[in-house]
Amino acid sequence: MHKVAVLGSTGSIGTLTLEVLSHLGQDYKVVALSIHKNVKLLQKQIEEYSPEVVCITDELSARSLHIRGTKLLTGREGLVEIAKGEADIVVNALVGAEGIYPTLSALQSKKRVCIANKETLVSFGEIVMNTARKYGGEIVPIDSEHSAIHQCICISRDEVVEIILTASGGPFRVSGIKKYITPEETLAHPVWKMGKKVTVDSATLMNKGLEVIEAVRLFSVPPESISVLIHPQSIIHSLVRFRDGAILAQLSLPDMRLPIQYALTYPKRTPSLVKPLDLAKVHLLEFDLPDKEKFPCLSLAYKAVSIGGTMPAVLSASDEVCVRSFLKRKITLPDIPEIIQKVMNKHRVIENPVLQEIEEADKWARRETSELVRLLNL
Ligand code: MG
Repeated sequence: MHKVAVLGSTGSIGTLTLEVLSHLGQDYKVVALSIHKNVKLLQKQIEEYSPEVVCITDELSARSLHIRGTKLLTGREGLVEIAKGEADIVVNALVGAEGIYPTLSALQSKKRVCIANKETLVSFGEIVMNTARKYGGEIVPIDSEHSAIHQCICISRDEVVEIILTASGGPFRVSGIKKYITPEETLAHPVWKMGKKVTVDSATLMNKGLEVIEAVRLFSVPPESISVLIHPQSIIHSLVRFRDGAILAQLSLPDMRLPIQYALTYPKRTPSLVKPLDLAKVHLLEFDLPDKEKFPCLSLAYKAVSIGGTMPAVLSASDEVCVRSFLKRKITLPDIPEIIQKVMNKHRVIENPVLQEIEEADKWARRETSELVRLLNL
C-alpha cells in the first residue's frame, strides 16, 4: 500500500488528486494534507480521508480549525515535517516558490515527488534535479505536457533530439494580448479549468515559457531542443522526436486526472476516470507555430533559461507579481512582458547559485516589479 501526502489539497490539482486517490482505492492511503487558507474545505477533506496529519501554512487560518485525532502543523516547518514523514509519495500541488522546501526534504528522504508546483522547477530546477540524483529520490511530473513527454521518453531516452510542447494558445490565440482585455476575459480559458495564476499565464503564453524551462530541467535537454507548437484542441499533450526521425506523442482528452494518476501509479497503468478518446469524434487536429510578436513572454522564458543561473527565478517571480497586479487591474496584459523584460535587463545574474541566492534574486525581482507597477499607477 502507498501512503500519500497531498500538499495544496484544496487547490485545483489538489482536489483532483484526492478524487483520483479515492478512485484508486485501498492501494493508496492519504496520510497527510496541507492547505494555505481554505479551512472549510480542509475540514470536509479530513472527514473523508482521515489523514494523520494536516498542515495549514497560514497561521491565522490555522486557529479556526477544530479537529480531534488529527495532528495540526503550521507554516513552512509543517510542510517539511510532512514531506519527511510517513508518506512514500508526496504530491506537491503548492503554488509559489515556498514549494521548494518540502520538495527537497522529500527527495532527501528518497521519496517520489509528483510535482505540479511550477516555481520549484523553474527557479530551483538544477538544485531539485541534483538533490534527486544525490539521494535517490524521484521526480514525476503532473503537468500534462511533461507527463506526456515522460510517457514517450521512457521508451528510449538517449535517442531524443527534440521535445515538442503543445499549447492550446489560450483565449487570445488569434488576437494576441491587447491593452483592452479584462481579467474576466482572460480567466475564461477555452479548454482547461485551472487556478487563476496559470490561467493568466496561459493567455500570455508565459505558462508555455515556464514549461519550456521545466522541460529543460526535467529531461536534461538544451533549450534549443525544445519547441512549442500551437494545438488548439489540446488532444496531443506533447511530442518527442527521436534520432531516426520517429515522433511519439501522447493523446487523451484534456483532463488532468490522467497525468495525476499516471504520476501516482507510474510505471503501472490502471483504469482511470478519464473518458476514452474517440478520434473520429474529434475529427480535426490543428497545428501552428506560436506568434512570438503577439506573445513576447515565450521568448523571455527562452532567454531566461539560456542565461540560466538566477535568471529563471527572476522571470518567474516578476511574472507572479505582474499577474497579481493585472488581476487587480493595476496593469494591462501587454504590460506584463514589458515589465518582466525591464526587470530581467536590470538583474545581475549569479551563476550556479545556491538556494539562498535564488531566494534573494526572487525577492529582488518582486520588489523591482512592484516598483514598476507602482510607477505605472502614478
Ligand atoms: Mg501544462
